Amino acid sequence: MPSSPDTGLLLGKVDYRESDWVVTLFTRQHGRVSALARGARRSQKRFGGVLEPMHTLTLALEERPTGDLMILREASIEVARIHLVSRLDTLEAAGRALGWVRASAPQQQPEPLVYASILELLDQLDQPAQQRDPRLFLAEFGLYFLSAIGIGIDLHSCVRCGRACAEGRAAYVDPKKGGLVCRACGGASRKLEGPERERFAQASSGTSGVLESPDIEGALLLVEQALAAHLGIARG
Ligand SMILES: [Zn+2]
Repeated sequence: MPSSPDTGLLLGKVDYRESDWVVTLFTRQHGRVSALARGARRSQKRFGGVLEPMHTLTLALEERPTGDLMILREASIEVARIHLVSRLDTLEAAGRALGWVRASAPQQQPEPLVYASILELLDQLDQPAQQRDPRLFLAEFGLYFLSAIGIGIDLHSCVRCGRACAEGRAAYVDPKKGGLVCRACGGASRKLEGPERERFAQASSGTSGVLESPDIEGALLLVEQALAAHLGIARG
């Protein structure tokens, strides 16, 4: 089958045979794919040393009639993110986001919302002299990412009885159950104050620039607990 041009991000690579890599990519057209990069280990020239994470790559991928493994014919850098890769805090934030995508994106299924939002996150983290804490961008991406893959946290109504939470009111949230759990339905150990809940809800619907520094740990915990619960079910 002929190569089809695509763009994507490197999620990981493992040695294969004597001179190859099997790379995991998150691509615009094919979603998450595994591909054989022949000769990539033997000669850096073969792929020009571009098989690195964080940069957007132009990819020539060849589908094969059988099996999940594609062939990576060519790769080049479409967008280099030199500021992102020069800072430890932005690298850590980007690496965590790519880890979420790697763990939860289905194989060979395009995820256009996720693809657009991870590129947006990487671009935000690449801005020179960015003063905002990179984890704020990460937490906003994470809450939206849950929505984009269909497991968004319901921050407006109880997931048990469906009762809406009044605007501005504090509420209990259980990420493992997918959202708010009202007091009548047993509540949960985590409580979100009204304004915090509103900010989280805005981030979940894709608005950026809404979270504040004290939100970081709580938002990241919600995202990772929701993902862990989802993956547990998916794997189980
Ligand atoms: Zn309820």
